[in-house]
Amino acid sequence: MSAVVVEVVVDVRSRALDRTFDYFVPDVWADVIQPGHRVFVSFGKQYRQAYVIRKREADSAQGLKPVLELLDEFPVLPPTLLALCDWVRQRYGCTWVDAIQAALPAAFRMQQRRVYAWSGGAQWEPGDAVEEKVWRVLRGGPLSFHQLTARCGADAAWVLERWIRTGLVREQVAHKDQTGAQTEFVLRPVVDAAALCDALAARRQRAPRQASVLAQLLDAGELPLKAVGMRPSSPAVQALRQAGLVAVAERQVHRSPQPMVTEDRTREQPLTVWQARALDQIRDAIAANRPSTVVVHGVTGSGKTELYMRALDIVLQRGGNAIVLVPEIALTPQLVGRFTARFGQRVAVLHSALSNGEKRDEWLRIRRGDADIVIGARSAVFAPVRSLQLIIIDEEHEPSYKQDETPRYDARDVAEQRAQAEGAVLVCGSATPSLRALERVAAGEARLATLPQRANGQPLPPVLVVDMREELKAGNRSLFSRALLSGLEEAVAAGRQAILFLNRRGYASFLLCRACGQVPECPNCDISLTLHRGRHGDWLRCHYCGYTENHSETCPACGELALRPHGVGTQQVEQVLHEQFPDWRLLRMDVDTTRRKGMHQSIVSQFLNGAADVLIGTQMVAKGLDFPNVSFVGVISADTMLAVPDYRASERTFQLLTQVAGRAGRADVPGRTVVQTYQPDHYAITAAARHDFNTFYQTERRLREAFGYPPFCELAVFMASHRERSYAEGAARRFERELRRRADANPQLTVLPAVPAGVERVEDQYRFQVVVKYSQWFDVRSPILSAFHVVDDKMRPLGGFCSLDVNAGRI
Ligand code: ADP
Ligand code: ZN
Repeated sequence: MSAVVVEVVVDVRSRALDRTFDYFVPDVWADVIQPGHRVFVSFGKQYRQAYVIRKREADSAQGLKPVLELLDEFPVLPPTLLALCDWVRQRYGCTWVDAIQAALPAAFRMQQRRVYAWSGGAQWEPGDAVEEKVWRVLRGGPLSFHQLTARCGADAAWVLERWIRTGLVREQVAHKDQTGAQTEFVLRPVVDAAALCDALAARRQRAPRQASVLAQLLDAGELPLKAVGMRPSSPAVQALRQAGLVAVAERQVHRSPQPMVTEDRTREQPLTVWQARALDQIRDAIAANRPSTVVVHGVTGSGKTELYMRALDIVLQRGGNAIVLVPEIALTPQLVGRFTARFGQRVAVLHSALSNGEKRDEWLRIRRGDADIVIGARSAVFAPVRSLQLIIIDEEHEPSYKQDETPRYDARDVAEQRAQAEGAVLVCGSATPSLRALERVAAGEARLATLPQRANGQPLPPVLVVDMREELKAGNRSLFSRALLSGLEEAVAAGRQAILFLNRRGYASFLLCRACGQVPECPNCDISLTLHRGRHGDWLRCHYCGYTENHSETCPACGELALRPHGVGTQQVEQVLHEQFPDWRLLRMDVDTTRRKGMHQSIVSQFLNGAADVLIGTQMVAKGLDFPNVSFVGVISADTMLAVPDYRASERTFQLLTQVAGRAGRADVPGRTVVQTYQPDHYAITAAARHDFNTFYQTERRLREAFGYPPFCELAVFMASHRERSYAEGAARRFERELRRRADANPQLTVLPAVPAGVERVEDQYRFQVVVKYSQWFDVRSPILSAFHVVDDKMRPLGGFCSLDVNAGRI
């Protein structure tokens, strides 16, 4: 007899189990079960959630275990997403489960619970009071250990253990979604309005609570019990039910996320010439019905958001769906506000601040087809939209599109692949497109649309570069150059606002002993501690692992009272500015002031509403914000960004300077910018100051090509970490050797020597790395993965950890 068999991947994060296992499908589910379904199976000695990858007919089910349960009505992963997970798995060398977990909201991962059920029958005599209590409670239904001891006290544990041994209690595995659907009870009338009125009149005196419920029911037609402070078991509800007047129903509540900063900008603006041209290009691309990419290079304030919205209109008119990716949704409240204001209920927002339950509900809403547009950070690229026609990636150059934990996917690559597979158009927008995006344009794989002017007709703000060495020579030792100070004062005097940008938080980036030269470091990491200043005193913190310690001015090395702060952070800027201008109202926005949920949005709205004169902050102030009243922007130090030992430092500096300067003069207020630096001749700084993207791009491109960096190759980074330095180093050397051996005949591969990571020790783990250069991943995948697996398998039993970051240097 033939049988239906499914090949499933079991939800265990282990490379050893990264393959499919066969199970047979009982007749009841034989027709409905599909790839992408979640099922429950017995696996070894355990019960596990699993994902159906394939379904097939087999001659017999002999020797196969059955699928125990089908967990969803419809497959949580539609075929397109299952295929995308397969691609992610291969592209980034991770397991099926890693890929599926990246795609599915956490709420779909099941939690296993052990529960204990009474199996001693009804005729049983408790021996003592504790036994009696546990027995009564257990007869109400299976409970977890935690629930049982919470209700019966700690003694229940002994009783339970005894009973499990003697077989009076059975252990079971319960499973449920970590976050199930949330339901509420509602009251509905089962008679007509006239009958309700009669019943109401009869109860007005006799039973006022019942009468009040009936009155509200008349008005509302349906009444959530919570709204009247009742439960299904409340006496008034019971009485009304028994009288045959009402019924209690349970219904799912949809947890709708909080709206973001909303603005009254729902009206469409007439497009500028450049916007209209770019829209034509996008329209043509969509109409062509085949996959393609448009790179939108639009200067800050050129109206890219309006362009995106018009492109979405086109897709909606064709009955299609779209995904909009933003770098970090908490940092783009205005952008999201504009989309929701324009498209209302048709938008689903996958916000990182949503609870697991909220994410699940939004996901299901998209899956059901109740939302046409999805906005979210990188994981939204996996949103289960049905008829994908457009993916927009805003601020395409942002590093946050790359996930820095397993699976280390890049949402831009995944979007490209998904657009390709589903025949959609990919739009990548930025004021500073990445070299990779422009390389695709050069190769004819993408088209370029440019918005070279601001939508309001204003010029880009003039940027003055101040050489801080000259300030020193002129006797100015303060944080602020004369030009920066006068810019600030002018703006505030004119009733405008200003932004001060510094890429470093805290008060001072390190302490230095003037007597012996000691710099206090984190005991767990090879990095200096940052000084933080609070209302109740100072403390030191490690920005890598979060370690904190008390601050004193006594040097731990030489005992002299000589530790002094060095290297300015945002906190110090705020304090110095406050001392100099006590009347000015200041706001600071960095990781430290936005830890609490909602704080970022709150600072943005305060500044928008004019509650402060100056906003001081890290790159958070540079991203996608539109403050119409800002006329001055100051960059405290461009050098902190250039100092990072990374081949992308120049590009990051150019991007950040362009972004932050772009915050000035966005409405009708003319703006200007001052950039302070000790390297006024660096090409990233001079080009940013002239708004000269092309010169920067050509220079950077030449350097990358000459030194063999992306986009002229791809990088993979192997990293080994271990508490013992020699193990970490040994593992990296071994990887290098294994790979060289395998890659001997492969001219595609360049293997660089094993070296300590940029910060050699983090959280008490030494880290060594090997960088590999190649052009096509799929040509070198097999030697790299096999070398990785050899080393990883050896390292695990030694308590170490290995990782492989494919396409690490994407930008
Ligand atoms: P970008 O994202 O390119 O930096 P935005 O989309 O934030 O720019 O637009 C900058 C400003 O220009 C916004 O205040 C926006 O409302 C306005 N704007 C956009 N398009 C137009 C237009 N066609 N006419 C007038 N103003 C516009
Ligand atoms: Zn540390």
